[in-house]
Formats: sequence, C-alpha cells, structure tokens
Amino acid sequence: MTAALGELKQRLGEITDLLRIQALQHWDLEVWMPPGGQDARAAQLATLEAIIHARQVDERIGELLDELEPYAASLPHDADDACLIRVARRDWDKLRRIPTALAAELARAGAESYQAWVAAREESSFERFRPHLERMLELKLQLVECFAPYDDPYDVLLDDFEEGMRTDEVRTIFARLQPEITALVAEHAAAADGDEFMSGPFPIPPQEALSRELIERFGGSWDAWRLDLTVHPFAVPFGPGDIRLTTRYSDADLNSLFTAMHECGHGLYEYGVSKSLDRTPLCTGASSALHESQSRLWENVVGRSLPFWRWFYPRVQAAFPERLGDTSLQRFHRAVNRAQRGFIRVDADETTYGLHVILRFELEQELVAGRLAVNDLPEAWNARFFELVGLEVPNDRLGVLQDSHWAGGSFGYFPTYLLGSVLSVQVWEKAREALPDLDEQMERGDFADLHTWLRDNLYALGRKLTPAETIERVVGGPIDPEPYLAYLRGKLSALAAA
Ligand code: ZN
Repeated sequence: MTAALGELKQRLGEITDLLRIQALQHWDLEVWMPPGGQDARAAQLATLEAIIHARQVDERIGELLDELEPYAASLPHDADDACLIRVARRDWDKLRRIPTALAAELARAGAESYQAWVAAREESSFERFRPHLERMLELKLQLVECFAPYDDPYDVLLDDFEEGMRTDEVRTIFARLQPEITALVAEHAAAADGDEFMSGPFPIPPQEALSRELIERFGGSWDAWRLDLTVHPFAVPFGPGDIRLTTRYSDADLNSLFTAMHECGHGLYEYGVSKSLDRTPLCTGASSALHESQSRLWENVVGRSLPFWRWFYPRVQAAFPERLGDTSLQRFHRAVNRAQRGFIRVDADETTYGLHVILRFELEQELVAGRLAVNDLPEAWNARFFELVGLEVPNDRLGVLQDSHWAGGSFGYFPTYLLGSVLSVQVWEKAREALPDLDEQMERGDFADLHTWLRDNLYALGRKLTPAETIERVVGGPIDPEPYLAYLRGKLSALAAA
C-alpha cells in the first residue's frame, strides 16, 4: 500500500511538472512570444499535450488506484490522501474517454486559433478568425461525443470548469438574475455626465506603480510573483512560489487598477493552497467559479467599496493631480460604481457585467447545440446584445471578437464569471461575520486579516473537495443569487441617495 501510494504520488508529481511546463509555454505565448513563433509553438504544445495525456491515462494509474481504494475508504473524507485518490480517480476516468490524438489536436489548433484571434481582433475582422473558430468548435464537439450519452452537450463542456455542475442549474440561477439586473440597469444606468475626470490621460508609469502597490497590500510578494503585460489579462501559477499575473494599461482610463486587483485575487487563491498539496492535482483552485469568486471579491467587493477608496483614493489622486486633483472621493467612488451600458465585458461595471456573461452563455449553448452556425455568430451577438444591453455594436472588435476564450476552445467558461460574482458576495458575508471591523481595516489599507481568513477557510483547501462541497463548507449552503442581488440593490440605491 505504501509502495502504491508512493508510486502514485511520483507519477502525479511528474504529470503536475509537465502541466506546469505546458502552462509556462502558454504564458510565454501570450506574454513574450513574437508572432513568428506561432507554428513552432503550436507544434510544441501538441507534442507536450500528447506526452502528458498518455501519462495521465496510463493503465498503471488505474491499477494503483484500485489497490489504494481500501486505504482511501479507511480515511476521513477530507484527509489529503483520501482526496488525492478520489480526485485522481475522477481525472483518470474522465481523461481516459478522450483519445490522445484529439487532446493533442485541440492543443495545436488552440494555439493557432489564439494567434489568429489576436490579429483578427486588432483588425476587427471576424472573417479572419472564422475558420479557426469553426475548427475549435468542431474539435470541441468531437470531445463532447467522447462523453455520450449526456443530457445536454453543454454539461460536458461546463464540467471542465465547474466539475459536477449542470447546465440546468446555471440556467435556473441566471433566470433569477437576468430580469433583476435588467431592471437595475434600466433604473440606474446613466450617461457618464460629470465623469470626465475618469477619461484620462493617465500616464502609465504611475498606473503600474499603483497596481504593484495594490498587489503587495493584498498579500502578493515579489519574491514569488511577477506582473507582465498581455492582450487579455490572466493569472497562472507555475508552483507555490511562482505566481504570474498579467495586465494591460491604457492612458485613457484607470481600468488597470481593477485588472490588477482581479488577477491578484486569482493569484492569492493559488498562492494560498496548502503546501502539503504541492505537485498533486489538488494543488489548484477548486473550480473556475470559486476562482472568479476570489478575483471578483478583491476587484469589486473590496476594490469598489467606500472604505477601500478612503484609503486608496488619496494615492491615486496624488498620482494624477491634473485629472483628479479637484475630484472628491464621493464623486470618484460613484464613478467607479456607476451602472453604465458599454460594449466590453472586462471594462463593465459590476451591475451590467452579468448581462455580458448571460449573452455569451446563451450563444455558447446555441453553438454547441448546432442551432447557430459560426458564420452567423456576429449577427446573433449584435442582435442579442442590443436586446440585453440596449446598444448597437459598431464593429466586431467591440463585439464578438473581444474575448480570447473561444479562440482557445474554452466553451463553458463564461458562466463561471457570473457564478463567481454571486459567490463572491456569499463568501464576503462569511468573512464579515468573522471579522466585524473589516471596514476599519480596509480604511487603513490593512488587508492582512481578510487575506488570512480567506486563505485558511478557502484557499488552503485547494481542489481537495468538489466545487459544491467546497462552497458548502465555506458559505454553509449552495450557490444562492439572493445575497448578490441584495448587494447590487443596496449599493446602487446608496449611490443614488448620496
Ligand atoms: Zn478572472
């Protein structure tokens, strides 16, 4: 038994190393690689994926798991080894259904498609991206068929990001949110009159310095973290002591501050996973929605709150005296929370954000079910965007080409953003119960207790439990849209009254 456990850990450790090398290849592709590296990188990623997949589905892992089953059954449900054996079994069973050739082809096509998307977005040319998107969708549909029979093809894709969750559950939650959010937007979305101070120019060096200050204050540390530039910001860990954040700056706005807080939230989650889980499949966040609950907690629940800005606004004002010198804290706080119709999801305010996600969730289901052809996607996007948000999309760069997810084949990811927002408020309420003077701490720029509470109660668990079990343990129940809706309503009516 000890020998079997040792061999299993050895094998899973090597797979984790290879997955981190693969993540490094992706990070480099999105951060440093010149366009000329595209073909070589796509080939490398396909080769690496084939090697990793072959190791992941090795018969020997199944034999070891069989041998270790009685040992796992003798342990408490949340013991590290019991969780490791359970998660390894689930991963092994799932990956065995996917042919190695398909996994490799998805990796190759995804890398090519990402590069095509960067160029197509630059030129606002959907036509340039269309064949790549068609190829990615076709490959993803082949993947879905590996899991037949299924109730809903979208369930298969969602499971890669939100293990065990069903499309129906997401639909039910979103059906509760959408009319409420639409009503809030109708009531509160205003033209940004009086907010000219928000539109720059904001020189980029101070934006970078402020971004770095936020990351340090929230709990990042430069001996283990990096912040680099990319087209579509993301965060990725290569190990417990190597957390990579990416961001982007524009001198036209201060969105980079919110991007830094968002990606920092992802980084803190990975940084906080218990070191005892390193080099195992448990050494990561439990799901995409839980990950987003943390990025959006730090970006929004903390980063758009009045106590936070009481501490941070004087610094921002000092960095940009020409634009903000005469603007009061109250006006600035209102501007960063204003419900406002806009085209770009990542720049959206907290309230309209949900509508951007619901649009993508609906279109993805149509694509996957074969009710919508890729060729008709821009038109469908623009029509549905108008219904949901009330704006005419002027070009594909501001519409269907704005996100990188579909380019990389990440169909099924989008709903986790809104589920994460919902969860962020549930987690926040628990943190507040435990830390009654949180507002005073934030006003001092002190986030240590909050970071510690989140680390001890959520981050440290890593992927030991299923997403649903993790949520139950942290917030004491399932995903519930009501606290989130109450939070949005409360915030908007306070702003309207101020
Ligand atoms: Zn995120």
